Amino acid sequence: MSFFDRFARDWLLTEIWSGMAITFRYFLQPKVTINYPFEKGLLSPRFRGEHALRRYPNGEERCIACKLCEAICPAQAITIEAEPRDDGSRRTRRYDIDMTKCIYCGFCQESCPVDAIVEGPNFEYATETRAELMYDKAKLLSNGERWEAELAARIAADAPYR
Ligand code: SF4
Ligand code: SF4
Repeated sequence: MSFFDRFARDWLLTEIWSGMAITFRYFLQPKVTINYPFEKGLLSPRFRGEHALRRYPNGEERCIACKLCEAICPAQAITIEAEPRDDGSRRTRRYDIDMTKCIYCGFCQESCPVDAIVEGPNFEYATETRAELMYDKAKLLSNGERWEAELAARIAADAPYR
């Protein structure tokens, strides 16, 4: 570095002024960040968040206990026990997902022939204990009831590409 360059840097503070110029340039530009959690970004219809079990509009459980999701799950996070009901339909007695094992691959959703198990748009389900991440059938069905409108819209939006 020449004497004049060093003089300019040390005595005229050129590095500070050039840094401030960059600061002011970005200060005037549109912000690329959002004020989470008060603002949220857009999610793809294929975003794989918290799991849910869906029902048909008449309230009947969609799941027919075929166990394809359990068989395909690479993390072995799903446990299903099935039984026939009084009306002869086959339904799950137990449907558990160990969310601490799940790797959010989406295979369970892909394998389900009746769109029963799905991964929804919810990503805000952090818990304070591991036990809260052991989802049972009641929890998954309640997720389905809570998110059904969004789940149906996401499936409809993605349908043309399947
Ligand atoms: S998303 Fe993948 S790892 Fe998680 S439960 Fe479904 S199949 Fe298993
Ligand atoms: S959620 Fe779907 S794939 Fe899994 S057991 Fe039920 S019907 Fe079969």
